[in-house]
Amino acid sequence: MPDSTSRERSCPDQATLHAFAVGKVGGSQWDAVAAHVQDCRDCLGRLEDFDAANDVLVEQLKNLPEGSAADDSGRGNALTTAILAHPGRQAVADAGRDLTRRLAEGRVWLGRFELQAELGVGSFGSVFKAWDPRQERVVALKVQRAGSFATREETQRFLREACSAARLKHPAIVSLYETGQTDEGVGYLVCEYIDGVTLEERLKNEVLDPREAAQIAAELAEALQYAHEHGIIHRDIKPSNIIVDRRRHAHLMDFGLAKQETGELTMTSDGRVLGTPAYMSPEQARGASHEVDARSDVYSLGVVLYEMLTGQRPFQGDRRQLLQQVLEDDPRPPRAIRAGVPRQLEVICLKAMSKLPGQRYQTAGELARDLDRFQQGRPILARPMGHLERMFRWCRRYPLAVGMLLAVVAGSSVGLAYLSSLSEYFVRETALEGARLETKMLDEVWRFYSQEIEDIDPKTTNVAITENYRTVHPSLPLPASFAIDLGERISKRSPGMEVRVYSRYPFPGRKNGGPQGDADAAALAFLEATARPEANPPVEYARFVTDSGRRKLLYYTARHMEQSCLGCHNAPQGQSPKKDWKVGDVVGVMKIVRPLDREIESTHHGLRGAFLLMGTTATVLVVASVFVTIVAQRRRRRKAAQR
Ligand code: ATP
Ligand code: MG
Repeated sequence: MPDSTSRERSCPDQATLHAFAVGKVGGSQWDAVAAHVQDCRDCLGRLEDFDAANDVLVEQLKNLPEGSAADDSGRGNALTTAILAHPGRQAVADAGRDLTRRLAEGRVWLGRFELQAELGVGSFGSVFKAWDPRQERVVALKVQRAGSFATREETQRFLREACSAARLKHPAIVSLYETGQTDEGVGYLVCEYIDGVTLEERLKNEVLDPREAAQIAAELAEALQYAHEHGIIHRDIKPSNIIVDRRRHAHLMDFGLAKQETGELTMTSDGRVLGTPAYMSPEQARGASHEVDARSDVYSLGVVLYEMLTGQRPFQGDRRQLLQQVLEDDPRPPRAIRAGVPRQLEVICLKAMSKLPGQRYQTAGELARDLDRFQQGRPILARPMGHLERMFRWCRRYPLAVGMLLAVVAGSSVGLAYLSSLSEYFVRETALEGARLETKMLDEVWRFYSQEIEDIDPKTTNVAITENYRTVHPSLPLPASFAIDLGERISKRSPGMEVRVYSRYPFPGRKNGGPQGDADAAALAFLEATARPEANPPVEYARFVTDSGRRKLLYYTARHMEQSCLGCHNAPQGQSPKKDWKVGDVVGVMKIVRPLDREIESTHHGLRGAFLLMGTTATVLVVASVFVTIVAQRRRRRKAAQR
């Protein structure tokens, strides 16, 4: 026989499937075939065909007495022999089927119980309505089917564990009266008989009125609260485990039957989950059994409520799709499927079905009380999901899109920060460069003028060189007066711009001759200490300030004493307050104030273009990724719904 792993992938052969159908496969082999069959429509179909066709081989296998398989070679089917030969394994004949067959022929007893009718077949086995003469009551008898457990000991352990649920006595919980095991090792459970239909059956034919759905859910929630208080978690709440009696009261069955270890009904030995994951909480679907607590039951009950309200399960598709959706997708709001669902009931249902246990009702009792409030027309405590939470969940649902968005935002922020600092750098550099150029030109003009008038001797010509050149005729201005007046003229003609020459020792009567304000004084002190005439490029002092909301550059360079000016400045009767000037001394400062408006405007213009380009690219990327993610998800859902 192929090993269990390969069988999971490829379909089991006919004989193996036969053996599985009649419970002649046990242990890990059973796990492997069951896991495969669960997902394989072909094999499910083949299994159904066996049942319908009353297959000869199946019949032969069914009727084999226990232990006869190993020496069955006389029957001429070696494969069958191989299937059945499992030393140490339990080879329970399918007692349920056998009982059903015999029941059709006459009166049948199992222990002291007289069987009356078959009620149904589940994963544990067949369920019979039976009469208990000792207690004088009708009971439901669940008879173990072959293959449920590998060994007699496992059956015993299962029945022992099931007994823990026997102490639950609640009107909405189907009581487990007792458990037993026949001499052949067939286990059975004796339960309270409920005259009614399972919720699964009802939901096949009708969508419940929201009020009835709320009442059923409230009864079940109270039952769950009671069970949880007794330390028992159901773990397998689903419509087929809920019976609604003739007075329309709900009863929860199969408490304590879903186990977590090998041989359980709903999980394989390696932790994979059998049965539909449609009602499983995300923590169950993840296989995180240690996280499964009372809130898992709250979740499953939320799913049942959802189905009662909408007529649909919140998630559909094959096993793999279901598990994925249970873990990742938010259910469609019930009102989007059926507009008549009251808003409050929708809020209750979605809260019970929150993916995170911490966001659900923390106890089944809380859920029951909110359902009661709804039924009584009082305000419920659950709140619809807020925008922030919606956003958070959206992020969790579309990690790719969110990742891209974050990457784009982070990248753009870094890019913007870099561009902003770059633009500031450009503004400053452009302004400084402009100021340097202007200083150089003025300096050149000043120097040129000084040299030109150097040759004029006032004694031999009648042209005076004086700072009062406007009133004395004929006369020319002193070089400093020339520079000062030229600066004034430039300042007047260019709005916002200022060119000013000032000194620590201004000639008396010269307007604005000294430093004005802290910046001027600081620049003068700095240049006096550091500026040297031979320095190339010249030492400069620059400061960027904001004045009445406008940004400006204050730019200062030193004027040095020249040989040609010494005579005038150091002359005892001259106007200079300082008489000991030396060549190279800082005699004054040329200050240029430049408004930065133009530079700022032009760099902002460039930045706007860059931002626009980046923003458009980022938006296109994000929209595209969100679109692709949503389309992919819709397609997945559509496919799931079609299946
Ligand atoms: P699973 O094995 O996964 O629980 P299931 O719930 O369909 O699936 P069973 O619990 O074995 O299977 O029940 C089979 C059927 O027997 C039910 O659908 C129901 O009709 C009937 N049944 C079970 N228990 C009772 C009961 N206590 N009273 C009346 N009918 C019952
Ligand atoms: Mg059941």
